[in-house]
Amino acid sequence: MNYPEPYGTECHEGWKSIIDDTHNKLVYIDPNYTILQIKEKFGGLRYYFSTLLDYEGVERDIMDDIVRAAELKASYTCELCGANNPSDKVEIRSHNYWYFGYCEACANKTIKERTSWRTKETEEEYRMLTEW
Ligand SMILES: [Zn+2]
Repeated sequence: MNYPEPYGTECHEGWKSIIDDTHNKLVYIDPNYTILQIKEKFGGLRYYFSTLLDYEGVERDIMDDIVRAAELKASYTCELCGANNPSDKVEIRSHNYWYFGYCEACANKTIKERTSWRTKETEEEYRMLTEW
């Protein structure tokens, strides 16, 4: 991924354009702002930054609004494939205590993969126990 540096980004390709747009807008307001962390948490986008701009100032307010808008947009954009049509039914879902904001197709595919992986691991554990 070609995200602006320096920072650690911990989310998938589907949110790339949202993150790039957010970064470009924030740089426009404050060219010296710093990205602290960008990640997915409980299925939502979290974009943490710091700036030396005054907390009371309108520029700082605008930066907060930009980030809030990005996080809202990510909430209806699939983190994996970027789909954001109402028909793709992007929403925060959960599976075995794991939360993700995927479209219906990506959610079904991912749950299937994770389920088969879990089953394989369980079989392996069982085999090791019984062979012992
Ligand atoms: Zn998707």
